[in-house]
Amino acid sequence: MDRVVRGEAEYAFPALLEHMEEGTPPTDVPGLCWWDGHGSRANTETRRTVAPAGIPAPDYDQWQAALDASPVQEYVHPKLVAEGARGCWWGEKHHCALCGFNGSAMAFRAKPGERLWQEIDRLVRRHRLLDVVTVDNIIDMAYFRDLLPRVAESGWDLRLHYEVKSNLTPGQLRLLGESGTVHIQPGIESPGSRVLDLMDEGVTGARNVRTLRECENHAPTCSWNLLHGFPGETADDYTPVIDQLPALVHLQPPSGAHRIQLERFSPHFTDPALGFGKRCPAETYQRVHDLPEGELADLVYLFDTEDAGIRGPVEQRLRGAPAAWRAGHADSRLLFEESGEELLVVDRRHGRPPATHRFTGRRRPCASWRAAAAPPPCTGCWHNAAMTCRTGREAVGLLAAERPALVGGGWAVALPPRIRRRPVPCTAIRPAAQAGGSRCSHVPTRGSGRPGPVSASPAAGFRPAGAAVRTRRPGRSVPR
Ligand code: SF4
Repeated sequence: MDRVVRGEAEYAFPALLEHMEEGTPPTDVPGLCWWDGHGSRANTETRRTVAPAGIPAPDYDQWQAALDASPVQEYVHPKLVAEGARGCWWGEKHHCALCGFNGSAMAFRAKPGERLWQEIDRLVRRHRLLDVVTVDNIIDMAYFRDLLPRVAESGWDLRLHYEVKSNLTPGQLRLLGESGTVHIQPGIESPGSRVLDLMDEGVTGARNVRTLRECENHAPTCSWNLLHGFPGETADDYTPVIDQLPALVHLQPPSGAHRIQLERFSPHFTDPALGFGKRCPAETYQRVHDLPEGELADLVYLFDTEDAGIRGPVEQRLRGAPAAWRAGHADSRLLFEESGEELLVVDRRHGRPPATHRFTGRRRPCASWRAAAAPPPCTGCWHNAAMTCRTGREAVGLLAAERPALVGGGWAVALPPRIRRRPVPCTAIRPAAQAGGSRCSHVPTRGSGRPGPVSASPAAGFRPAGAAVRTRRPGRSVPR
């Protein structure tokens, strides 16, 4: 390798080409590492980020030609890769403690929705592909106004992948479903609020559970993992969470439960006082690169550390939970339907006796239930209010005992998705053990999953597919 640009290269690359054409030394190209004939040189990095208008539209013609000529073409599932935004608007305010993304620039920048739509429109028409994977770390919330409605109106059966934050509202998740977003990664790392606080994720366990429920209502497949190993966590943070997991068996299961790994650029990395003082380059790098440890430590992204947080029986229980969840998921259902003053809850969850609950308007649980199904911004409000009177306490007790809602820790969230009267999209979820995937898109976790079927995308070349996703509609229309 002759030249490397550290950071975003859209401005540096053309400047480098000019120097090469003119035969002049590229001493003023920011962030460039190069050989000057005697030794390596490293130009100073720039703090300047690429403006949204400077993020180029992709050209995949060469990739398409290579795919067309490939003898394994029939075995791959090609996808288009689009980029709408860089950086992270959440990380600008609260950098999640474990996240090493955006090491060169956290500043959030996004193309206007109309421009991104034009790029997707052009790519889909040119390559005749409907699968579009966005590489953004996090969706621009403006896209709920100026992109997703446009996609939904197009009538195309696109199959979009988006990374989102799990504090989306039911209405926003509905819009994702309507736009053909069949796969999301919302960064659900835990249903336990205390552990989420340690991560500085800015969501509660109740929000995460509600997101899983709303994914059932609005169709997106949701990839997520249970993460643990945070400095400061205790068995008491996990035991009640693990005890509640069987009640969630009808919702989409996690891919696995994994101990976090230290990532360069994360708060855990930059501040050793947060608990990962001792670190060394991850062992995998040492198998690939024959370099002294000190040199490797300067280069790598992942580090091994001493285990933090839970260990022993609690860790084993957590690690076993996803397999049990997956095993019970296929034949589990928990659904509700409202009709006038009546609320019907059909419970066919794995591991529980079949039950059908009928709540009438005169019974307090009915009102409690409705409040939990569509909670106000403070998810615990109805719970706290209910606990102030005897009937309320009875209602909370009933919901907790029958487990159609998750109750505890000052919050509550109804668990069953609505019964859908329209045709339910067919589902094609691979065994989650193949799904890999995790926080945002690609948090490295220890021992995460086996590779799945091969998919191809212009940006990634051939690579293992992420979680297989639900098809949006059985018959897919291709734009003309
Ligand atoms: S984990 Fe996701 S939301 Fe958190 S800072 Fe990283 S990119 Fe942003």
